[in-house]
Amino acid sequence: MATFLEKLKGGVIGAFLGDALGKEVEGRKRLPEESIKEIESPGYVWDGDYTDDTEMMISIMEALLEREFDPELLAQKFVENYHSYRGYGRGAKKVIRLLKEGHSWSEVAKLSFPGGSFGNGAAMRIAPIGLFYFYDENLLIKNAILSSIITHYHPLGVEGGVLMAYAISMALKKDPRTFLPIDFLDVLIEKEADIREEVYKYTYRYEGEDKEIYLYALKKAKGFLLENGVNLSRVKRQLGTSSKAHRSVVTAIYLFLKHFDTPFEGMMDAIRMGGDTDTIACMVGAIGGALNGMGVFPTEKIDRLTDEGKGKSYVLSLSEKLYKRLKDKGVL
Ligand SMILES: [Mg+2]
Repeated sequence: MATFLEKLKGGVIGAFLGDALGKEVEGRKRLPEESIKEIESPGYVWDGDYTDDTEMMISIMEALLEREFDPELLAQKFVENYHSYRGYGRGAKKVIRLLKEGHSWSEVAKLSFPGGSFGNGAAMRIAPIGLFYFYDENLLIKNAILSSIITHYHPLGVEGGVLMAYAISMALKKDPRTFLPIDFLDVLIEKEADIREEVYKYTYRYEGEDKEIYLYALKKAKGFLLENGVNLSRVKRQLGTSSKAHRSVVTAIYLFLKHFDTPFEGMMDAIRMGGDTDTIACMVGAIGGALNGMGVFPTEKIDRLTDEGKGKSYVLSLSEKLYKRLKDKGVL
């Protein structure tokens, strides 16, 4: 089995790779299979650059290293690292603007979006929280929520982030040689209500008839896994591929479970399905990398990830520092 450090690197580099590859086709409807094959092929040439998903993930890593875990500092990092050309959503752009104007981290989500955003922006960036707080479930859930509510006030947006962090953390602790996808999903199904209750302590209580929307989706994913060989258009229809958290987080969890020992294939399925491809492929990569380690991804793809800006080398150096921090804390 990969070492802990390789798994930690796998989680963040998997997210980076999914983001960088998925952005190539973001927002497109289904692509012809030959275009998919081209992206999949070892010789595929692209810029290897990342989008808002990775940029915000880097902010979380920096904030964890500087002063774990302080949402005010994280909000400041979001502002410092922000590049508008990296494909931020409208809500995130507004949050950044409000922060720059001096509003507090705790009020910008509400100010930017009355009722709160249920986009997948909290989940797309959350890998470092899942990887770092693997040793304490309460801390993991609490800090996953704190990292989410800076931009997301709607409970569905926050719960998507926490479920993703929880899944990444579980994957990190598992051995791929004895991994059982259904058992993994059963834990999430069992935990969902507790996670939702925790989320409600920081957001408003969502009383719509879709209150159990994540629970339904997780059970649907379990049905798909048991059925074996469900086609992607059905998955897309029922679990979703949009930028809404509740229409993409469970999709990513399902694609990971379907390809748990070959997560690159899960990423390619995310790309094949269209929609919010960068974020869904990013989330598949984060969980798959945390389970298997960075070595599970094709070397030629990792080699092409950009080193410009806060690129691959920088992200890897932050991973090593986080690893060292965990050692110093005595949890490894
Ligand atoms: Mg993006």
